[in-house]
Amino acid sequence: MTSNRIDEKLKAGPTLSFEFFPPKTPEAQATLVRTLRELETLDPSFVSVTYGAGGSTRETTHELVVGMARTTSLVPMAHLTCVGHSRLDLAEILVRYARAGITNLMALGGDPPAGSSLPNSELHHAYELVELARAIHPFSIGVAAHPEVHPHSPDRATDRKHLAAKLVHADFAITQFFFRVDDYVSLIDDLGDHGIDKPVIPGIMPITNLASVARMAQMSGASVPSNVTGPLERAARHGPDEVRKVGVELAIEFCRGLLAAGAPGLHFYTLNRSTATREIAAALGLSPAA
Ligand code: FAD
Repeated sequence: MTSNRIDEKLKAGPTLSFEFFPPKTPEAQATLVRTLRELETLDPSFVSVTYGAGGSTRETTHELVVGMARTTSLVPMAHLTCVGHSRLDLAEILVRYARAGITNLMALGGDPPAGSSLPNSELHHAYELVELARAIHPFSIGVAAHPEVHPHSPDRATDRKHLAAKLVHADFAITQFFFRVDDYVSLIDDLGDHGIDKPVIPGIMPITNLASVARMAQMSGASVPSNVTGPLERAARHGPDEVRKVGVELAIEFCRGLLAAGAPGLHFYTLNRSTATREIAAALGLSPAA
């Protein structure tokens, strides 16, 4: 029987994975159900479900992860963040996942919502959550990596040092979205200099709307380079459909470059929609229909 552990899947060859967030309304729920059914046909290696920092999606993330494991062929990974939780809270959440048979965990620091300091936080960095999860259950554990450096880090060397230390104990990393293959290659080289060769899966944000990606890039600290914004801005003169088409073409080219650079898989930020991701997967030959 094939393993449902992501660390095992990564050993078997390039992975294909999708990220979702728990929907807040019945309409958003219906959209997600449709998206899951459409993306399930691509037979992804795993899918991940985000966690609202501070515990805002504590129940909905759990329900979505456990529901997917029980009612679909998808292999889910639960995100969990330190921020706003006591150690006991986090342990309870982890034990509940272990009891429900969930083996894949994405251990994150999280960010307090703007204007809040969330004083209950007992763990301050993701590596502490990795340690706690390891003590509770033999989870397969992923952590976040930031090719363009985490926005709160004083400098790149410090950020890479902390990432390398985190990856000593975690099984793999998934990156924040970014847009240059060279940034991925530098990240892998820097980790190699620290003696770390754990798999780092690049996170891909297909661009279907220039305005929203610029906003998200600002939030995440990832810059959108001119070789991406240029073609998109030119496409915008011909309307939103052309922006979408060019955005998908750029993502296909980027994914090809990442796989050629040795990426162990591709992780798509779907924003709970499937069309762009399906088009990219088909063009890359990752879809059964391709
Ligand atoms: P950490 O690893 O704790 O790093 C945070 C900062 O602390 C970095 O600057 C790091 O260099 C520094 N640092 C690390 N260790 C130390 C140390 N020992 N001493 C001093 N400094 C240190 N957020 C959510 O709220 N929910 C999600 O579901 C979610 N999913 C994500 C998925 C992916 C793939 C990625 C890339 C990010 C995700 N995030 C999510 C965002 C993430 O929570 C934020 O980027 C957060 O600011 C940092 O999380 P981290 O896990 O990288 O934290």
